[in-house]
Amino acid sequence: MYQRENQEFGSGTGGGAVALAPATFGRAGLVEATGPALEAPRRRSWGEVDLVVDLGVRLGSPEWFRGLATLGGMLAALWYVAPGFTPLPGNVPAKLAPARFDEMRAIGVAPAAYGADSGRRLAATDRAEPLTSTPERPRLDLVATIGLGDGIARMLEREGASSADAAQAASLVAEAVPLSDIAGGTKLAITLGRRPNREVARPLDGLSFRARFDLALSLERVNGALVLNRQPIAVDDTPMRLTGDVGDSLYRSERSAGATPSVVADYIRAVAPHVDIGDISPFDRYDLVFEHKRAATGEVQTGRLLYAGITHGGKQTRLLRWTLDGREQWFDAAGAGERREGFSMPVSGARMTSNFGMRFHPILGFSRMHQGIDLAAPYGTPIVAASDGVVRFAGWHGGHGNFVQIAHAGGMGTGYGHMSRYVVRPGQSVRQGQLIGYVGSTGLSTGPHCHFEVYRGGHPINPATARFAMTSQIAGDALKRFRATLARLTALPLGGRAEVAASAKASSRG
Ligand SMILES: [Zn+2]
Repeated sequence: MYQRENQEFGSGTGGGAVALAPATFGRAGLVEATGPALEAPRRRSWGEVDLVVDLGVRLGSPEWFRGLATLGGMLAALWYVAPGFTPLPGNVPAKLAPARFDEMRAIGVAPAAYGADSGRRLAATDRAEPLTSTPERPRLDLVATIGLGDGIARMLEREGASSADAAQAASLVAEAVPLSDIAGGTKLAITLGRRPNREVARPLDGLSFRARFDLALSLERVNGALVLNRQPIAVDDTPMRLTGDVGDSLYRSERSAGATPSVVADYIRAVAPHVDIGDISPFDRYDLVFEHKRAATGEVQTGRLLYAGITHGGKQTRLLRWTLDGREQWFDAAGAGERREGFSMPVSGARMTSNFGMRFHPILGFSRMHQGIDLAAPYGTPIVAASDGVVRFAGWHGGHGNFVQIAHAGGMGTGYGHMSRYVVRPGQSVRQGQLIGYVGSTGLSTGPHCHFEVYRGGHPINPATARFAMTSQIAGDALKRFRATLARLTALPLGGRAEVAASAKASSRG
């Protein structure tokens, strides 16, 4: 809103024409021409000049121009006295003479961005010449670790050798030991020699590392060419034999005697089928032999458990790890292997559609004995051997279509019919779970299924009630070798303390 002293003349009452009072300035001089005059406007003398002119009304009048000129004059005066944007001068340090400046700079502390040359020393003068290059070390001795999946050549190049040197070194090392045999984590000592200039890689002057537990290798530069040296390390690989009382805990006793956790776990797995582990008493004795290698340089490597023995309640059990027919298992002193019971179903996820017994044959149209069970499964489902054994028959067998028969230990046998295809031949040894063929519908069959038969003594029995109990038996010459190995291991001195020097076998396989 807008206020001035004669605001009471507002046009608030009644209608009628509104005219400006001639003697007043500005918008306030409104009077009602027709209404009763409330009060006569106060008249101003000519000497009383209104400096504040409303520029919104009476545009172009002399008063308006005067008001504009007044405004312009005031803006000009403001512009004239305004301080402007130039910084105000503060305290300016005195200008230093050039020599004094250098001296101050040398001992001053200032940000490096301002060209600081901090420290209590004199700045270089013009008499000091900057170096164009720094001298190099004549040789570098490095130790690098080869990573898993890494290669010697790649690692040497990474450390600064030229690719030609790296390739040559790798091929020399490969003469001694397959490069893939060098274990990840092997440390290599590398020597890089002097080079004529910085543009070329340093020559590889030396390389030494332990390529294998029993072999150290080194490369040396002789008359400009790399030469390979092999240093076999004597290794005593006499197995370690430990024996003692079970005491409070079988695990703790064996561990404190020097067996590794994996050896103890192997031991417990081996003896568990023969001795009730929970029934072992503190006075029972354990006896075990495991692979053990000791290098002349002091390192020791421990391998698998070879022999597990336990004397429990006066009865001695002796078990030896042995491989028979490609299957490694624990055999007792008489050469009998682990007893394995039961068999696995030949088709996984199959639905039994026909049981063992008399039934009405869907194709032949009369009742007859069903000598097995039918396992329905889609075409091509794998059929696996129900147990270890030897294939007796594989071929076309009348109503059975493509048929495979397997003979198992203990006078047991299995048959598999209606196969679309079989992948074994007579005389072949198969393991439990090994693929022998695929589900089909060959022979007298109404749809894809596997006809599964089980025989005992050559006669079909009900697979649902059949019991397999299989034990492998070592016989003949193998049994002689088995007994000799058992005798050798159990005759080892306790603690495997054979002198390294006496039995050390300088391995020169490299
Ligand atoms: Zn059948």
